[in-house]
Amino acid sequence: MKDIMENIKEELKKSGYKLTIQRKAIIEVFSEQNAVHLSPEEIYDCVRDKYPNIGLATVYRTLQLFEELGILYKLNFDDGCSRYELNTGEEGHQHHHLICLSCGSVQEVNIDLLESLESEIEKTKEFKIVDHNLKFFGYCKDCKDKSQ
Ligand SMILES: [Zn+2]
Ligand SMILES: [Zn+2]
Ligand SMILES: [Zn+2]
Repeated sequence: MKDIMENIKEELKKSGYKLTIQRKAIIEVFSEQNAVHLSPEEIYDCVRDKYPNIGLATVYRTLQLFEELGILYKLNFDDGCSRYELNTGEEGHQHHHLICLSCGSVQEVNIDLLESLESEIEKTKEFKIVDHNLKFFGYCKDCKDKSQ
């Protein structure tokens, strides 16, 4: 986590921003919560525990800044609220997301497996692929077990 914070500090500095207490607090939420995909409201709730003076508008603004700087990814899971996750800076393509239609949980699949599809598209469409954002909708194990 120390490294992540150092990297983010560098990233901000490069663009002329400082790692303020509020910005730091928002990054800390991502390291302290087990959920890696957080909505602005969830982030706000966590940050407010420690910093009661922070406003929701500040949280929104900070998330937007982090997104512009590539520190966070903004994800849209088609459930009416956007969520954010930390860009870990790992080279390569975005992981895939499994979205439960019953409880709304989001799991990650950290293998790409799209290489053959990607090379087919690059060949037939002459389109250079740099990333993708793949969502699978269905029912998680817990919800599936419960309904049986
Ligand atoms: Zn890929
Ligand atoms: Zn579920
Ligand atoms: Zn994710």
